[in-house]
Amino acid sequence: MLPEPQVPPVMGLNYNSVSELRTFLEKQGLGMRKKYGQNFLINPAVRRALIDALEAEPDAEIWEIGPGLGAMTGQLLEKGFPVRAFEIDPGFARVLRELFGSRPNFTLIEGDVMKTWPSQPAAQYLLGNLPYNIAAALIADMVEKKCLFRRMVLTVQREVALRMAARPGSADYSSFSVLCSSAYKVIPLMIIRGASFYPRPNVDSQGLKLELREDVPGACPAIFYSLVRSLFASRRKMIKNNLRNFIFSVIIKKGCAAPNIGQAAAEDIAGEALARSSLKGNERAENLGLEAFVSLAKAVEDLSK
Ligand code: SAM
Repeated sequence: MLPEPQVPPVMGLNYNSVSELRTFLEKQGLGMRKKYGQNFLINPAVRRALIDALEAEPDAEIWEIGPGLGAMTGQLLEKGFPVRAFEIDPGFARVLRELFGSRPNFTLIEGDVMKTWPSQPAAQYLLGNLPYNIAAALIADMVEKKCLFRRMVLTVQREVALRMAARPGSADYSSFSVLCSSAYKVIPLMIIRGASFYPRPNVDSQGLKLELREDVPGACPAIFYSLVRSLFASRRKMIKNNLRNFIFSVIIKKGCAAPNIGQAAAEDIAGEALARSSLKGNERAENLGLEAFVSLAKAVEDLSK
C-alpha cells in the first residue's frame, strides 16, 4: 500500500474565496478534475438559497450528491440535518472525513454515486450541485428505478434545466422532460452565472426544485420509459409509425409479447392502443403530454399479453 500523503490538517476553509480555495487545494496536494465536473459554488447567497429551497423537515436525512470540499455539507450539518454525502474524488473524501468525520450525523459514501446509491437506505430529500457529466443519467436512473424523493434541489447546466422543465410543444421538450414529469413537478429556481463557480464554467447553470407529484396519472407500466424514448427517437415522425416499430422491435422481437403475436399484429396493436388513448396516430411525440404516454404504454402492455 502507498503511504498516505503528508498534508496539513484542514481548518477554517473559506468557501467564498477563489484564492483561498486555490491555496488550500495546493497545500492538500489536490487539483480540480474536469472529468468529475468539479466546479465549486463560491457564491454564499446562492448556496443559502438552494439549501433553503429544500425546506427539509427537521431531523430528516438529506442525500448530498457531490459535496466537494463540503461548502453545503457544513451548513446542512450546522442546521442539524443528518447528511449522507456521495463523493467520488478520494482527495475530497479525505478532506470531508477530516472536517465532518467525527459528527454522528455525517455519513460519507465514497465512490461513483451511479454505482453506490442503489444500496443506500432511502431518504426524503436530495441536494446536489450535480457534476455535469452524470446529472441527466443519475436523475433518469433514480426515477426509472423508483428511487423517489419528496423534494430535490439540484444545480444543473441551464440547457439540462430547460429540458427538465420543458412543456409539450416547446423546442426543449424531450423524453427526459416526460421522464422528469412522470414523478416530479419541476420548478425552475435562479439562473446561476459562471462567476458563481470556481473554476468558472463557460455556460450558465440553474437551480431547480423537484417536488414529488401526488397527481401522476396512475403507476407507469414497465415499458413506459422505453416507449417514451422510442416515440421521441424520430421526434418529427407521426407516433403511429414510431409506435408500430416499437411494438415490433421491442415488445415482439424481444419476446415480451405472447409467442403467437407476429409483425402484422404490431400494426393492429398500435392501432388499438392509439384508439384506447383517444389518439389519431398523426400526432408527434413532441406535442404529447404525460397522460397520453402513460395511456399508450398501458394499452400496449395490455394488448401484448
Ligand atoms: N458541492 C460542491 C459545491 O457546490 O461546491 C461541489 C460540486 S461539483 C459541481 C461536483 C462534485 O461531484 C465534485 O465534488 C465531484 O468530485 C463530485 N462527483 C463527480 N462525479 C461523481 C460521481 N460519479 N459520484 C460521486 N461524486 C461525483
